[in-house]
Amino acid sequence: MAMNKYLVFLEQRDGIVKKASIKLWNTFQKLAAMHDDIAVCGLFVGAADLHQLQVTLVGAGVVYYASSTGFSLYNPERYASLVADTFKREACSTLFFADTILSRELAPKLSVRLNAALLSGSPMFDAAGVDSGSLRSVYSGSALASFHSDRLPRIYTISSFPIIPANPSRTHIDFIPLQQPCSVNGEELFPLVRMMTMREGRGDVTEAGIIIAGGRGVGGADGFALLEQLAFLLGGVVGASRAAVDEGWRPHSEQIGQTGRTVAPALYLACGISGSLQHIAGIGSASLVVAINSDCHAPIFDVADYGIVGDASLVLQKLINAVQDFLKKK
Ligand SMILES: Cc1cc2nc3c(=O)[nH]c(=O)nc-3n(C[C@H](O)[C@H](O)[C@H](O)COP(=O)(O)OP(=O)(O)OC[C@H]3O[C@@H](n4cnc5c(N)ncnc54)[C@H](O)[C@@H]3O)c2cc1C
Repeated sequence: MAMNKYLVFLEQRDGIVKKASIKLWNTFQKLAAMHDDIAVCGLFVGAADLHQLQVTLVGAGVVYYASSTGFSLYNPERYASLVADTFKREACSTLFFADTILSRELAPKLSVRLNAALLSGSPMFDAAGVDSGSLRSVYSGSALASFHSDRLPRIYTISSFPIIPANPSRTHIDFIPLQQPCSVNGEELFPLVRMMTMREGRGDVTEAGIIIAGGRGVGGADGFALLEQLAFLLGGVVGASRAAVDEGWRPHSEQIGQTGRTVAPALYLACGISGSLQHIAGIGSASLVVAINSDCHAPIFDVADYGIVGDASLVLQKLINAVQDFLKKK
């Protein structure tokens, strides 16, 4: 049987592989562990700390990395050329990205360069482990639609990950530097000169393992002080509903939902958030959802694993006290 080779793009920020890309890599390692005729290789572009890469990525296969100065800052043309060159040279069938702001720019460019089908959402695999399309929520999360393409190659931007019940069995990865800068046709357009971090010191909700999110029910910008305190104690970050953002209580970078960020934390604590379809659309990949709301009929309780009916500030204060007591005893 012909070998299927998947290329996984390992997106980084400040030289560290993003959590969404690690999740992507692990998902394909599990898939490869179940199917001998599936091979996975990775591509890391940017200032690489080889040791960091070696401890971060587990499984088997090859990871190519391009860390020459031409790749240290994101440049869409240059990155697209490198990914396309690697994809063709390795004779891959499918290219996978985590769904991020960067991949939403790169993937369509590559779709044109490689004449590839472009799919998004959660990929589906047939019994042989071959990608067979994607599932995506539509109508603000009230329905699921499946998308298929017979065309090869295919490119996916993945926002939620299929559950694959296997563990990586092989454990050797070859890390191979890409020496040759790829050819970039014509003049480079729009090179990135520097990265700016909005609102220094705040965490990125898309990367966070714990999110303490607040909505209109928090009552105002000051009400978020308790959420920040709890997030700090738990090593998490603060998120917000659109209502809280529209009120000007929180920045848009923290908005979660259909027109905000899609998040995948281990714990999502929703405080004073009603649970509109547009908000829920952003938290489908959260492992555990806990909701605090004063209205026992709030729709958020339909999707929450645990619910607490009560005033958000009172419950948050109790939670903060309990965590502080716990930390003191440790
Ligand atoms: C096209 C479109 C895109 C949208 N995109 C997004 C999006 O990306 N993200 C998003 O969040 N929304 C989005 N919305 C808006 C969405 O429809 C809701 O209006 C919004 O999510 C409501 O935010 P909320 O839950 O904070 O506020 P509300 O709906 O007003 O809910 C407040 C909740 O707080 C509770 N509450 C009140 N007081 C307390 C208290 N003291 N303690 C505890 N609970 C209390 C109430 O019972 C209520 O459930 C979008 C809407 C449209 C039309």
